[in-house]
Amino acid sequence: MYTISRHEATVSVSQYFENYVDIPTFLAACQACPNYGNIWSCPPYDFDVEAFWKRFSTLQLLASKITFSEEMLAKTYSPEEQRSLLNKILVPEKADLSNEMTEREKEYPGSVSLSAGSCGNCEGGCSRPHGQPCRFPQTMRHSIESLGGNVGLTIEKLMGLHLEWMEEGRLPHHFVLVCGLLIP
Ligand code: SF4
Repeated sequence: MYTISRHEATVSVSQYFENYVDIPTFLAACQACPNYGNIWSCPPYDFDVEAFWKRFSTLQLLASKITFSEEMLAKTYSPEEQRSLLNKILVPEKADLSNEMTEREKEYPGSVSLSAGSCGNCEGGCSRPHGQPCRFPQTMRHSIESLGGNVGLTIEKLMGLHLEWMEEGRLPHHFVLVCGLLIP
């Protein structure tokens, strides 16, 4: 049905910040997303994003590439089928990555992980639209892109992968979920 492969890379934060982070561009792009201002893991932030990156010296990247079979690629899907299939595949894989990152945080004192996408910890939705603080600030993590990182460029140049976009009614050849660990 589909296969999953893992890919890793390690880069210094100074090099990464210089070549792959563009805070004004990516944070402006976030404004077009419905998560903007509605999920605490997403912008706008009440902290200095550049200063956040600069607290760390090393970035470990971990990507999960989910490749669909020819049989799955040949099919046509309704929007509901597409959504439900992707939820079934991507949500557990994202949870696996998140668990793995939590374990790595324990291995590296002072490290902070970067999640693959926005926070989905609360089943009933985020507390932010209700004007309430994050319910789980200890486990909530920001994504690379929400901190201005260019994920497409990151996986292309550092991991030899590329992003694919979904077209209506079809699955892409593959999906890539990317997370990371910032180490002081
Ligand atoms: S943990 Fe819950 S309240 Fe906090 S950012 Fe995630 S969804 Fe929102």
